[in-house]
Amino acid sequence: MRLRNITGSREMIAASRYVVHEEQNCRGKWQEVFGNGRPIHIEIGMGKGKFIHTMARQHPENNYIGIEKYSSVLLRAVQKMEEEELPNLRFIRMEAEEILHVFAPGEVERIYLNFSDPWPKDRHAHRRLPSRQFLEKYDRILSPRGQLEFKTDNRGLFDFAVEELAPAGWEIRSITYDLHGDAGLMEGNVMTEYEEKFSAMGNPIYKYIIYREK
Ligand code: SAH
Repeated sequence: MRLRNITGSREMIAASRYVVHEEQNCRGKWQEVFGNGRPIHIEIGMGKGKFIHTMARQHPENNYIGIEKYSSVLLRAVQKMEEEELPNLRFIRMEAEEILHVFAPGEVERIYLNFSDPWPKDRHAHRRLPSRQFLEKYDRILSPRGQLEFKTDNRGLFDFAVEELAPAGWEIRSITYDLHGDAGLMEGNVMTEYEEKFSAMGNPIYKYIIYREK
């Protein structure tokens, strides 16, 4: 998702109290940021933040961090927080590659990937957020019982993501090729912006929930 460059979005993000900045160096100290020891759930590539904002409102028992690389997009999530402030939600503007610098081993309880960029060219496979290169990083920040949930309407990306699991040593807890037709997995489902758009077009939504036994 790339919005036209909104003038001043970088400055507004730099000044926002909802955005945690690199120099604050929160690695290993996220409980202090939230002022409690509740589980930390993150969405990598959150876009405008509809999903994570709704999740945070529905689940005050967890803390949420939305990660997005583009300021112009992240700004929308910040604006949503200005309209409806939630104590258990924060944002970081960063590239997912840097994730090990931001979270300590075992600090994260759950990772959400929603409608990640497909990077269709083979030589860009390592940039796909469900690739084995990223799974290895996620494994290091997830707690022993942590899990990762991935949704997409892109069949090629989903098939690739499923093929990456065995070599990376992950197990499938649940998988569906039609999320919206699966009553069990739909329980508590919060639609993302892309999910609303693509399911309205008639596209099936694919989802897996994965974990690593440690
Ligand atoms: N999760 C949202 C948006 C999906 S679009 C939804 O489902 O509606 C994918 C988003 O991920 C875009 O906003 C893009 O800028 C962001 N993104 C893609 N690759 C990223 C990366 N490597 N690091 C951080 N954000 C990334």
